[in-house]
Amino acid sequence: MEFGNTKIKKHRLTIGGCDCLELAQKYGTPLYVFDVDYAASVAKAYVDVLKREYPDFTVCYASKAFCCTGIYELLAPLGLGADVVSGGELYTALRGGMSADKIYFHGNNKTEAEVKYAIENGVECFVVDSERELTLISRYAKKPQNVLVRVNPGVEAHTHRFIQTTLVDSKFGFSIADGSAEEIIISISKYNNINFCGLACHIGSQIFEKQSFEIAIDKVTDFIVKLNKSGINVERLDLGGGYGIKYVEGDSPLTPKEYMQNTARYLKNAVKEKGIAPPRLIVEPGRSIVGEAGITLYTVGAIKTIKDVKTYAAVDGGMFDNPRPSLYDAAYTAVVVDRADEIATDKYSIAGKCCESGDVLIDGIELPHLLEGDILAVMSTGAYHYSMASNYNRNAVPPVVAVKDGKSCYMVKPQTYEDIARNDAKIEF
Ligand SMILES: *Cc1c(COP(=O)(O)O)cnc(C)c1O
Repeated sequence: MEFGNTKIKKHRLTIGGCDCLELAQKYGTPLYVFDVDYAASVAKAYVDVLKREYPDFTVCYASKAFCCTGIYELLAPLGLGADVVSGGELYTALRGGMSADKIYFHGNNKTEAEVKYAIENGVECFVVDSERELTLISRYAKKPQNVLVRVNPGVEAHTHRFIQTTLVDSKFGFSIADGSAEEIIISISKYNNINFCGLACHIGSQIFEKQSFEIAIDKVTDFIVKLNKSGINVERLDLGGGYGIKYVEGDSPLTPKEYMQNTARYLKNAVKEKGIAPPRLIVEPGRSIVGEAGITLYTVGAIKTIKDVKTYAAVDGGMFDNPRPSLYDAAYTAVVVDRADEIATDKYSIAGKCCESGDVLIDGIELPHLLEGDILAVMSTGAYHYSMASNYNRNAVPPVVAVKDGKSCYMVKPQTYEDIARNDAKIEF
């Protein structure tokens, strides 16, 4: 049971020095709990390795993994920048104290309003993903706006698998292989208020194999050589995120230090071998900073056995606080918080409370015999949970409680029914 810095003390699960049963009693369930020291330690690990291995760098936290003002208040003082993909994420980052000159704006279809808003607020860099975006930027930029171009190196990676193709079908990026990346980069010289700074790619998520990143570096640096020959300089290289975390026993991702050390060294070598100027390295870890910092606490309600099939234990959360199992069969593990090291005797499917048959959080897990009222902790829920939560079935999005050194406080306050209905308007023609 090693997820983030959670610990079992006298059979009870603790996080950030807080007892999980007491957290559930104090704040109610469902509840997201977030260990700020764990997230900070991972963020620091990224920064520290790069300081040693590749001093010209920026670590941009990928906001989409977990976006609320508190996360920027935590990460900005550690020297991190942020990657945002919408006006809403940008607003939250600025409000959380992230400096605009450390913000990279991604997205394949930024709206005109978003482009205008980002320029007015002095965002450091756009990661351009369409010709239309160049037109929009040019319309509003009063001084030369830095941009990277999102390229598609033809590597796609997920957990233990990666595929290499010459043409990846993706809505993101311009293909290097078919010449469209070079075309758009050359077209930027038409705009006197847009400044081409370099390339960005992001090859996937929850990647365990360093080889995927190495192949991406090979392809992108080959492309830099080609651009250099056409007289185009590449000052920055954004390699995206995708570093994996542990969700279930048996997952064994590299440590952030190992991922970064390998990336930095591999890039340094490639640059040297190919005789290109070392670009500023930008990395954008999202999941790996916040994923294992979070757990979700639920209360077990109805337990129902379907003879000779399975036993469902239903909890007071579900796809509204965690859509990942129904979206892409994501796997999780869980523990009973006050019997965390008790031997598993029974098998359960942990069901959510939404009106969808597919709302099952864990389909088959061995646990001690469950009773109504037991508090269950699902592990590694800090990334892509709160940020993906919805009000489906008009369930309230659970609050997020930050924990540190045995203390706890809200990081995101609870939603009330009134909050949920706040924007409902009366039909009046
Ligand atoms: C999603 C995304 C990230 C973060 O990915 P993780 O797997 O959470 O590390 C970084 N950069 C870009 C462009 C992304 O789309």
